[in-house]
Amino acid sequence: MDYVIIGNSIAAAGCIEGIRRADQNGKITVVGAEPYHVYGRPLISYLLEGKTDLERIKYRPADFYEKNCCTLVKGERALKIDAQKKRVTLSGGAVLPYDRLAIATGSRPFVPRIPNLEKYEYHTFMTLDDALKLQEKIKTVPNARVLIFGAGLIGLKCAEAIHKSVGEITVADMADRVLPSILDHDGAEIIKKHLEGYGLKFLLSTAANPDSFDFDILCVCTGVVPETELAKECGAEVGRGIFVDGKSKTTVKDIYAAGDCTESYSEVTGKRAAIPILPNAYIQGETAGINMAGGIASFDSALPMNAIGFFGKHILTAGVYEGEAVRAKSSEYRKIFVKDGKLKGFIFIDDFKRAGIYTALIRDGGDISGVDIDGLAENAGLNLFPKNFRDEVLRAKN
Ligand SMILES: Cc1cc2nc3c(=O)[nH]c(=O)nc-3n(C[C@H](O)[C@H](O)[C@H](O)COP(=O)(O)OP(=O)(O)OC[C@H]3O[C@@H](n4cnc5c(N)ncnc54)[C@H](O)[C@@H]3O)c2cc1C
Repeated sequence: MDYVIIGNSIAAAGCIEGIRRADQNGKITVVGAEPYHVYGRPLISYLLEGKTDLERIKYRPADFYEKNCCTLVKGERALKIDAQKKRVTLSGGAVLPYDRLAIATGSRPFVPRIPNLEKYEYHTFMTLDDALKLQEKIKTVPNARVLIFGAGLIGLKCAEAIHKSVGEITVADMADRVLPSILDHDGAEIIKKHLEGYGLKFLLSTAANPDSFDFDILCVCTGVVPETELAKECGAEVGRGIFVDGKSKTTVKDIYAAGDCTESYSEVTGKRAAIPILPNAYIQGETAGINMAGGIASFDSALPMNAIGFFGKHILTAGVYEGEAVRAKSSEYRKIFVKDGKLKGFIFIDDFKRAGIYTALIRDGGDISGVDIDGLAENAGLNLFPKNFRDEVLRAKN
C-alpha cells in the first residue's frame, strides 16, 4: 500500500503513527512545504523568548521518520492532486502515486483587507520561519516600537515572545476585548490588566490602519484560515474547512484529511465546525492514519478547548458559552455555562480544580439538572452530584 501525506506538522505526525499502528509495511511519503523536521508550532513563541531551542521544539525525536519507515520530502509543496489517477504532483516536478492520501495542510495566516497595508513590510507569526525572520528584524532595530494587529491567541503569543527584546508593544484590534474567541468580557479584562502590567498597550475597538500609528515593526496576527485549495481543486467538498466525517474521510474516495485544514461535525457541540487546536489535529490525524491502513477508528467528539498561558497567567477553556453563566465567588475567575440541565462550557483562569471532571461532563452531556450550580462553579466535588452519578463515576474509576 502506498500512503502519501501532504503537510508535515501535528496532524501528519498523528497520521504516520496511526498508519503504523495498523500497517507496518506500507510505504509512507510525507510532503512538507516547510524545510524542517516536524515541530510543535505553539513553541515558536518560546523559541523567540529563549525558553527553548531548535532541537527541543521538535515534536517527535530526530529519528522519527526513520523509525516509522517514512520518506520525508521537505521544502516542497504539493501542487495538484489528481483524484482519478490517484497521484500528487510536487513543486519539484515529482509525481507521487498513492493508494490512500491524507491532506494535512493546516492553516495559513488570514490577512484581512487593511487600508494602506501594502505600503509597509509586515510579519506574520505562524511558522518557524516567521519567528526567525521576526527575530532577525528585531536585532536590526534597537528598542523597536512594535505594532501588532490582532489581540487573539497568536497576536498575544507574539507579544509575549518579543517583549523582552523590543522597546514597546502596542496591540490593536477591532474587537472590544483581548482573546475574543476564547474569553468573555470579564475574563478578557483580567488578562488585559495582567498584560498591561508587563507594559503592553492595547487599542481595542480600533480599526487596523498602519498609517494611523507610529511604529518600527508591524506584525499582522489577525487569525488563520484553513488551507483547503488542493482539496477543493480535486473535487472534495469544502466549507470553511475540508469536510471530513468521524473517520477523517473527505468526500473523495481514498482521500482523508486532518487537522486545522478540516471542518467536522462534533456530537459534543452538535455543530459542524473547524476547531484549529493541536490536540484535535493529532487525534484526527491518528484517526485518518488508522482508517487509511484498514483499521477502525473514529473521532466525533471534538471539543473546542484551549489551555494557554501569557506571562505566567493561565487560561483553561472548554465547550461553548451558552445558557446561564455562573461565576465562582471564591476564585479570581471560574465561570461555568449551563443550559437545559447540561454543562456547556467553562472559563477558568489560574484555578483548574477538577478540570477533568468538568470536561468529561461537557463531553458526555451528563444530566446536572439536580446539581447545585453555584457549588459546581466553585468545585466539582462528588458530594454535589446525585447518588447514581457518584456511583457511575466510582464504577468508572475502579
Ligand atoms: C503561535 C501559535 C501558538 C499556538 N498555540 C496553541 C496552543 O497553545 N494550544 C493549541 O491547542 N493550539 C495552538 N496553536 C494551534 C496549533 O499549532 C495548530 O492547531 C496545529 O499546529 C495544527 O496542526 P496541523 O498539522 O493541522 O497544521 P499546521 O501546524 O498548520 O501544519 C500544516 C503544514 O502543512 C504544510 N503545507 C500546507 N500546504 C502544503 C502543500 N500544498 N504541500 C506541502 N505542505 C503543505 C504547511 O507548510 C505546514 O507545515 C498555536 C498556533 C500558533 C501559530
